[in-house]
Amino acid sequence: MPVFTREQLSAYLDDALSDGETAQVEQALRQSDPLRRQLRGLMAERDRGEHSIGAIWRRERLSCPNREQLGNYLLRVLDGDQQDYIQFHLHTVGCAFCLANLADLQARQKEPASRTQQRRRRFFESSAGLLRAGRSKR
Ligand SMILES: [Zn+2]
Repeated sequence: MPVFTREQLSAYLDDALSDGETAQVEQALRQSDPLRRQLRGLMAERDRGEHSIGAIWRRERLSCPNREQLGNYLLRVLDGDQQDYIQFHLHTVGCAFCLANLADLQARQKEPASRTQQRRRRFFESSAGLLRAGRSKR
């Protein structure tokens, strides 16, 4: 099991490692709980860092899938490798930023249905109200 330095993990988060090194880190992350904890600790540290730096880092996080990719992941329309990568990124790396993004997308996917229901209920209530008003006039 290779040991990674803070600098290497940091470079991994910045997507600044070579493909070979990135593969090594990802392989190790799949196998090592302490390494996953170490990486999450580093991510949390960076998120807590000076506000603007944290914000820039999040904006420029290259290893994060974008919203469209996350949406496709939810719909399961990505090819196997991409689906695996995002699964890995979310659940093995535990990227809080992408998990929050995913939760937001899931909430939006559910929204239209409940909105339609609300509209139906409102329509039903106002029709019932009209019927009652009509009846009381008679
Ligand atoms: Zn991410």
